[in-house]
This record gives sequence, C-alpha cells and structure tokens, in this order.
Amino acid sequence: MPSRAWFQCINPQCGATYPLNTIVYQCRQCQSLLEVQHDLETLKQLDAKSWKGLFEQRYKSNQWPYGSGVWGKKEWILPEIHNDNIVSLYEGGTNLFWAERFGKVIGVNELWVKLCGNTHSGSFKDLGMTVLVSQVKQMISEGAPIKAVACASTGDTSAALATYCAAAGIQSVVLLPRGKISTAQLVATALERRPGAQPGHRLRRLHEAGPADHRRPDFVFGELDEFIACGRPENRRNRNCSAV
Ligand SMILES: [Zn+2]
Repeated sequence: MPSRAWFQCINPQCGATYPLNTIVYQCRQCQSLLEVQHDLETLKQLDAKSWKGLFEQRYKSNQWPYGSGVWGKKEWILPEIHNDNIVSLYEGGTNLFWAERFGKVIGVNELWVKLCGNTHSGSFKDLGMTVLVSQVKQMISEGAPIKAVACASTGDTSAALATYCAAAGIQSVVLLPRGKISTAQLVATALERRPGAQPGHRLRRLHEAGPADHRRPDFVFGELDEFIACGRPENRRNRNCSAV
C-alpha cells in the first residue's frame, strides 16, 4: 500500500506543500510553520483493526526496522523512506510501571508512568530523532550535499542527535551552553560518537575559542552567537571564519 507524506503550510489561506526532502524551515510563501501531512485516503484503505494487528505483529520483533516502537508504524511516519536508510536503535517500547505510592499521594489508584527517557541516549527525544536522522540519511543517499546536522540544545535533543548521527556515520554539531548538560547524557554521547570522528575546521576554531575538550569532537563548547556570526555569508571573508 504505497502512501505519501509531505510538508504543508499550517496557514489555511496558503496551504503550500513541499516534499519532505526539501531543506525548508518555514513556508516560503507566507513564512508560517509547516507540518507533516499524510495521505489519509490511502491509509484508510486498511481498517483500524488491521492496523492494530499489524502494529502488534511487528512490536519488538527482529524484522528490521519494524521492531522499533517508531518504525513499527512506518506507514504513519515516513512511508516513502527506504528501509536501508532508516537509522534505528530499536527505540520506543519503553515500559509502563505502576507508581503505586505516588498514586496514593495524589489520589489516583491506578497510576502508570511511561518512562521515555529510559533509552540509549537517556533522552525521550530518541523517538523523534530516529525519524530526523533517517530522513537526512535518505537525502544524502539521493545526493543532497549535507555535511552535518546541527542543533542548539541543553540536553535531550543534543544527546539524541549526537547518538543517532553517530549510529549513521553523519557528523553532528551540538552547541551547548557550558555546564548545562547532565553528566549521564554527556557520557552516553561521548561513548557513542563515531569512532575516529574529528571536528572540522569550524569546530576546531570553536574549540580554540573556548575551554575545548578535543576528546569529544561531537560536542562544541563555544559561543553560539559567534558560531552563527561565522556562518553568515557576509562574515566569511573574516580571517577567523575563512573556512566556515
Ligand atoms: Zn504558507
């Protein structure tokens, strides 16, 4: 059942659409936000009971990549991605536990908690990051000139991005305010980074600018403003930004 998904502008007066392999951050027509839309007419061809049965049959199986709690629902996520480009650590499927004592404190007899942070990176954002990095890998396989994936985050996003990029062999760039990440997330990412990965010139420059730790090339302890300034075309002639 071939299905489709695409970016669509949330402004109902606009409704512009873009393929999911477009590097676009907001609507080019009206600057509104974009959301992913799915071909619901095609998805409706399978009834709810059949979908549920399919998801349960795939759940935690060894049938790549469908054992993942995310990719078991591939048709509802990224239906057109090639399975070879999916970057998955079999995320999801985290357990529910009964928080009996806490439930009594707040007057809820049956309080069950799902701990999505109980993952490889310690970040609940693994669930979304597997999709983002998979799409990047798909775009690279189609010839898109993507050298790295970057984010600015104080914890969950950075841990998940670095982990999934490491798994994919894609360079990640993480911008962190100094001292604002938990040791657990930092250590997990440092251990899972791509073996032999070296920071590019841009990263080395940031390392030199701040209290660098060259053993963690996927992490940058630098100044975000400085990084952004160097990335702007008008600053590229600046001696310090020549290789940016
Ligand atoms: Zn628009």
